[in-house]
Amino acid sequence: MGAEPRRGRPEDRRPEDPRPDRARPDDADVDALFALDDLDLGRESRAPAGARPLFRDSPAARRMLSVRQIRAEPAAAASPRGRQVLARFPDAEVVPVDSHWRIADLHGDEGNVDRWVRIKSEVLVLGEKKTLTTRPNGRSADWIAPGSANGCAMACAYCYVPRRKGYANPVTVFTNIDRTIAHLSRHLARLGPKTEPNQCDPAAWVYDIGENSDCSVDALISDNVADLVRAFARWPAAKASFATKFVNPDLLLLDPRGRTRVRFSLMPQEDSRLLDIRTSPVESRIAAAGDFLEAGYEVHFNLSPVVLRPGWARDWSLLLRHMDEVLPAPVKAQAAAEVIMLTHNEGLHELNLGWHPRAEDVLWRPDLQQPKRSENGSWNVRYRGGVKAGAVETMRELVAAHAPWLRIRYAF
Ligand code: SF4
Repeated sequence: MGAEPRRGRPEDRRPEDPRPDRARPDDADVDALFALDDLDLGRESRAPAGARPLFRDSPAARRMLSVRQIRAEPAAAASPRGRQVLARFPDAEVVPVDSHWRIADLHGDEGNVDRWVRIKSEVLVLGEKKTLTTRPNGRSADWIAPGSANGCAMACAYCYVPRRKGYANPVTVFTNIDRTIAHLSRHLARLGPKTEPNQCDPAAWVYDIGENSDCSVDALISDNVADLVRAFARWPAAKASFATKFVNPDLLLLDPRGRTRVRFSLMPQEDSRLLDIRTSPVESRIAAAGDFLEAGYEVHFNLSPVVLRPGWARDWSLLLRHMDEVLPAPVKAQAAAEVIMLTHNEGLHELNLGWHPRAEDVLWRPDLQQPKRSENGSWNVRYRGGVKAGAVETMRELVAAHAPWLRIRYAF
C-alpha cells in the first residue's frame, strides 16, 4: 500500500515521508478558554490563503488541538484526505486501527474519565464512513447529512455527542468526503427544488452538516468542511447549516455565497463558563457574526441549551441586550434563532460527576425534570411539561422585549 500509516516517533519515519518537521506545539495551558485577543476577526483575515498565517497554525488553535497520536484505519490514512491530515500533524504517532468505531482503550474505558479532556486535544482518529445516510429532520434543518466527522475537541458538559461512542470521544475525521458530497448531490437531485417554504428555509433544502461534531473545529484539522461549503455554494436548491461554539477565522477565507448557514450557539456567559468547556467565549461568537455575514455566510443563532437555575431569565435578558447593542444591522436583518431547552441524560450525569461535578449542580435538577426513555434505551431527562412550557414562553417574551429583530424559527 502506497501510504501505510506511519507508526512511532518522527525519527522512526520512513525516509520518503514528505512532511517537514515542526516543533511540538506548546501544550501548556491546554484546557484554557480562548481569550478575545487570540482571535483576529479583522478585515485582513479575509486575505487570500498564504498571505498571512492561517488561524489553524496559531497558538490559540494549538491550545484546542495539540495532536500527539492519530489512530488510523489503513485505507483512511492512505487516502488523499488522510494524507492531508497526517501532514498537518507531523509529530503525531500513528497507530493503525481496524475500525474507527470500536477502539476499546480510547472510547470504552471509563477509567479514562480523568484524561477525557486531554484525549480530546491530543488524539485524532481517521476512518472511512461506511454508511452514508441522509435523515429527515424538520426542526433545525430539513435533512441531517452524513457527517464528515464525529466527536469533538471541546467538552460541553451537556453534550450528547460523546454518548454515542463511549467515554472519551476525540474527533474522528472521515476521509471519504468525496463520497459524502456525491451522496448529497444525488439526494438533492432526487428531491428537486423546494416548492413549499417552511421554517427551516423559505426556498432551500437545509442540510445539517455538523450533527455529531463542531465544523469550526473540524476545519482546523482538514478541508472536509471547506469542501462541503464549496459544494453547497454550487447548489442553488440547497443550503448547508451547522451550529458552532468555536470561532475559526479560517472559515472567512471560503466563499460560501450565502449557501452555508452558521448558527452560533449562545448562552449567558455565566452558564457558558461553567458548562461550555474549551469553547470560544460567547462574546467572541457574537463579535464574529458580522465578519461571517460579510464573508458570505448566513448567520443565525442557537439560543441553547437554556438551563434553568436561579437568575436564568435575568442573564438571558443581559445576553439579548448585548446582542442588540453590538450586532450590526445587516446581521439583525437576516438573523433567526432556535431556542432549545436543556435535555440531559442519566449516564452523562454519572460521567460528569467524575470530572466536572459542579456542572451537575445546574444540569441535574430532579425537582424540575422528568425522565424519558430514549430510542437507544438510555434515560434522558427534560424539564417537566409545565416548567418547560413556562420557560419557553419566558424566552419568547425576552426575545420580543430585548431583540425584537430576532425571529424565532422554533422553540422547544
Ligand atoms: S461544541 Fe458541540 S459537539 Fe462539541 S462538545 Fe460542545 S456541544 Fe458537543
